[in-house]
Amino acid sequence: MSEVFNFCAGPAMLPKPVMQRAQSEFLNWNDSGCSVMELSHRGPEFMALASQAEQDLRDLMNIPDNYKVLFCHGGGRGQFSAVPLNLLPAGKSADYIVTGSWSKAAVVEGEKFGRIRSVDVITDINGEKAVKPSSDWDLDPNAAYVHYCPNETVDGIEIFEVPQTNGVPLVADMSSTILSRQIDVSQFALIYAGAQKNIGPSGLTIVIVREDLLGQHAKATPVIMDYEKTANFESMFNTPPTYAWYLASLVFQWLKSLGGVPAIEQHNQDKAQLLYDYIDASAFYQSRINKSNRSLMNVPFYLTDEDLNQRFLSEAKDAGLLALKGHRMVGGMRASIYNAMPIEGVQALVDFMKQFAAENA
Ligand code: PMP
Repeated sequence: MSEVFNFCAGPAMLPKPVMQRAQSEFLNWNDSGCSVMELSHRGPEFMALASQAEQDLRDLMNIPDNYKVLFCHGGGRGQFSAVPLNLLPAGKSADYIVTGSWSKAAVVEGEKFGRIRSVDVITDINGEKAVKPSSDWDLDPNAAYVHYCPNETVDGIEIFEVPQTNGVPLVADMSSTILSRQIDVSQFALIYAGAQKNIGPSGLTIVIVREDLLGQHAKATPVIMDYEKTANFESMFNTPPTYAWYLASLVFQWLKSLGGVPAIEQHNQDKAQLLYDYIDASAFYQSRINKSNRSLMNVPFYLTDEDLNQRFLSEAKDAGLLALKGHRMVGGMRASIYNAMPIEGVQALVDFMKQFAAENA
């Protein structure tokens, strides 16, 4: 089979060297005679792997010592429930910044557990979507926390500033931006991310939480969503998704070998620029997001003649460019270009787009 480039938004492509290594040690990991997925999570071999993975993530993100790193189940949506259960005491409310479909979904779930103030911060600049600066957000100084989504996977909207909340704890759904660019973890109270974009396969969720926020959970919090319990048991109170954790460990090693987050950030900027520059230069395609908020990871774009959408998708697939259909809520196309996507994949997409435009203009 000829080479394909998979632009899926998640589960997304994983780095080839990671997949090759996983394949080579699939049946016999670390000379144990077993697959890593067959080993006890509490055995010394897996415990060593698990703590090395945590250390590698701490190194990659410069996570301060007063933060716990949890390896959880339940995906991003699991955290939509876990965050209010752990951080929203009765009688308080939380501010939820709405910038697109995932931050909206977090509101809908959060409302099951407490009082949520939904804060719309989307604005229009010359017909393009943009996010108001955080200094203009209508925030409640007494909120238990502010929740936001720095990168809206469906909408392709990214917030590059760290919102200023005047001391109110900041919670971020980094599912589709974690490890794509440098961030200062100390500015956040809690960060969470489903693994299936920049970390590994689905089934694993990373939570990075400041220690002083532990222990305030609602009484009815299911034990697998209780951050304090999870932290006290090193993410092993219940059986963790060990194979996903192992693959994440390989992804962290791969990222370190490339030069860490600063190196991948440069790579990601180069890839995004290549694609957005072409879209902007072409009359055949358009972006509907203002330059100030264009996602580095998820690039939605539209054909000016939307009747050509099906032909575009089917010819792209024939050319080995997969999963470019935009989410049904926004239509059009979307190229997800996470850390594992090589620049050759983006170049192949741009070449295809040029050719398709020339043939159909
Ligand atoms: N938040 C964001 C930003 C996402 O992109 C996604 C999934 N694509 C989710 C939350 C939900 O994650 P999950 O499907 O792992 O529950």
